[in-house]
Amino acid sequence: MITMQKLGIGAVQFIVAIFSGYCFYTSSKGLYRPWHSYTLLSLLTLNILLSISIMELVAGATYWGLALPFWYYSLFGLKKGFIFSAVVILLSAVVILIRTDTNIFMPFRTVFNFTLVYCSIWLVCHIYEVQNQKTSKFLRSLALQDGLTDLQNRHALKADFRAFHNSFDCLHMLIIDIDHFKNINDKYGHDIGDSVLINVANVLKECVQGKEIYRLGGEEFVVLYIDISDMEAYTKAEEIRIAIEKSVFYSHKEDIKLTVSIGVSSLHPDHEFADFLRAADQKLYQAKHEGRNKVCS
Ligand code: GH3
Ligand code: MG
Ligand code: MG
Repeated sequence: MITMQKLGIGAVQFIVAIFSGYCFYTSSKGLYRPWHSYTLLSLLTLNILLSISIMELVAGATYWGLALPFWYYSLFGLKKGFIFSAVVILLSAVVILIRTDTNIFMPFRTVFNFTLVYCSIWLVCHIYEVQNQKTSKFLRSLALQDGLTDLQNRHALKADFRAFHNSFDCLHMLIIDIDHFKNINDKYGHDIGDSVLINVANVLKECVQGKEIYRLGGEEFVVLYIDISDMEAYTKAEEIRIAIEKSVFYSHKEDIKLTVSIGVSSLHPDHEFADFLRAADQKLYQAKHEGRNKVCS
């Protein structure tokens, strides 16, 4: 750039190179922040648009513009990828039209060819990103959802615990365990046992306003509550216990009635996930010991 007397664009390229190095370093250390992507792609876009505006077009600076949709979609996702790609094709087309107004170019045909290739790449990126989002959603549901009840599973509970632990001081956990569930399987069969578990999950969804309901495994469920007092947590657990006690879980032969025992724990600052769960489990054990169909906190 120095030999070509293009110091302005050389300076922009130098900044892009330094900032790319910085992004590489921070992301390899796990210190990525969203503003890194925005700054990097703004600088790259500026660099490419400047190249198209200033450098000799016969050297092929315009080809760099074709890579932009791919970068936008991969870093910003569907919506912003679409908007940025649309803005850049409009800007590039205008700049190319003005700059190719010479006797070695045919402006309209150059713009037409550039736009057509850009739009095909843009279309492929868009379709790919739509598929990518669908697949991510599906894989996420496979990883974090319980297949039987559609509640979240233990992995989701752990992830949410970590997120809540970082953001909130006050967190309560309820472990809800169906009393004598083995008898239901023994008496009515495993399939009816499964539909009872689904019905219990539905009652929990009706009782709990938030999304923080999980199936821990077997006939055990967990509910997390953020920013409520010990007394409120106990009251909510009691409401759940009464709602299940009042519900009728039908089988084909006769009505099935159930009760649950609930252990409640509140988060201590030094609690890890296992400690928090163990504290609730101990209270559940106490509720079972004291005769079941009971809340202990
Ligand atoms: P307690 O009141 O002490 O909790 O007694 P319980 O019978 O509920 O507890 P226990 O741990 O003895 O038995 C739990 C049963 O839950 C045993 C297992 O067959 C059943 N179970 C675990 N997962 C499933 C499932 O996905 N579907 C069905 N139908 N049964 C399950
Ligand atoms: Mg159990
Ligand atoms: Mg049980």
